Amino acid sequence: TTFAELGVCPELVAACEAMGWTAPTRIQAEAIPCALQGKDVVALAQTGSGKTAAFVLPILQALLEKPRPFFACVLSPKRELAIQIADQFRALGSAIGLVCSVLVGGVDRIQQAISLAKRPHIVVATPGRLLDHLMNTKGFGLDKMKYLVLDEADELLHVEFEKAVDDILKVIPKDRRTFLFSATMTKKVNKLKRACIRVPAKLEV
Ligand code: AMP
Repeated sequence: TTFAELGVCPELVAACEAMGWTAPTRIQAEAIPCALQGKDVVALAQTGSGKTAAFVLPILQALLEKPRPFFACVLSPKRELAIQIADQFRALGSAIGLVCSVLVGGVDRIQQAISLAKRPHIVVATPGRLLDHLMNTKGFGLDKMKYLVLDEADELLHVEFEKAVDDILKVIPKDRRTFLFSATMTKKVNKLKRACIRVPAKLEV
């Protein structure tokens, strides 16, 4: 299979080629066509499987059709992972002028508020800091958001994040697509899945 055969548009096929990616990974081959059809995606996926591009590519393709600020939000349980996800958005989106903000703990909040004032297309965040900005940063909201990604969902449900994730889900639009990726399907992940996913295309890769 090629990226083009999955339905990826020429601009993004070129971006994948520029990354040196010759063929989609297994999770990309399964998740991308579902996502491009407007379905929610639930996938069992490990780091190293290519799961990041499996959600980055469909989100960028939808964004290309109708560019707008605060289009997608990605929740990550780890700062380092959030930075890597943002790097992948920026690399694959460089030709289309993508603007992406990273909101993680341990970094100056004011700088993050300034980056939000630039109205990024994509926000990649750890739960506590995202909730902090949703509550306290004037002019920032996710009410127009179209895509939510829950990455490493099993870890997002650890006690330290659980309350923040719950509060975030209460204030973001219900009318959106959701992509849920998890290394394991625990009881808690299943509960989150039921709370978040409409018509899932369940994948186990
Ligand atoms: P991830 O599982 O998303 O953390 O990705 C692991 C690594 O695989 C990253 O360094 C990606 O740049 C790389 N990668 C993603 N998709 C592909 C692909 N289709 N072919 C080769 N490498 C890829």
